[in-house]
Amino acid sequence: MHVRSMSTFECTNLLSASRVACLACSKDGKPYVVPIYYAYADIHLYAFSMPGKKIEFMRANPHVSLVVEERGHGREWQSVVVDGRFEELPDRIGHKRERDHAWSLLSRHFDWWEPGALKPMTQPQSDHSEHVFFRILVDQLSGREAKEN
Ligand SMILES: Cc1cc2nc3c(=O)[nH]c(=O)nc-3n(C[C@H](O)[C@H](O)[C@H](O)COP(=O)(O)OP(=O)(O)OC[C@H]3O[C@@H](n4cnc5c(N)ncnc54)[C@H](O)[C@@H]3O)c2cc1C
Repeated sequence: MHVRSMSTFECTNLLSASRVACLACSKDGKPYVVPIYYAYADIHLYAFSMPGKKIEFMRANPHVSLVVEERGHGREWQSVVVDGRFEELPDRIGHKRERDHAWSLLSRHFDWWEPGALKPMTQPQSDHSEHVFFRILVDQLSGREAKEN
């Protein structure tokens, strides 16, 4: 096996082709990481969620990190690490265009809303007024690829 760094172009290709990331955030010195669906466009990762711990953390501290990984043949893999900033897209005048953009990107997958709307012992809440659209502005990214020799 050998590992090499990926170019920015290769990193953004992987972000565009994938849809699941692990999102890490922190508040008061405490880290928290969860998987989420996202859609990548224009140096942003767009996502949807209900209020909860990650939204509370990111509202308190917008600096986040994400990792997206893809497995290749055998032991081969690629992964991209993103350092970025949380930006909420509230349902208010001034954010309609970005919110509609997030909706149109995410809704390319029929089940896009479900993981973000389901919590233990509750029903799907996709039409609940509290749902949150947000995006992560990519500040920095890096990628690594492992290939069989
Ligand atoms: C493939 C995939 C895609 C997903 N896509 C989305 C998405 O697009 N949007 C979205 O909001 N959520 C998505 N989820 C669910 C997400 O991982 C969280 O479970 C969910 O968002 C609740 O997070 P929260 O911070 O609001 O947790 P809360 O409901 O506030 O609960 C907090 C506590 O619950 C526990 N917890 C929360 N989530 C998990 C988990 N996944 N696994 C184990 N323990 C957990 C932790 O201990 C945490 O301290 C996805 C999950 C998977 C596996």
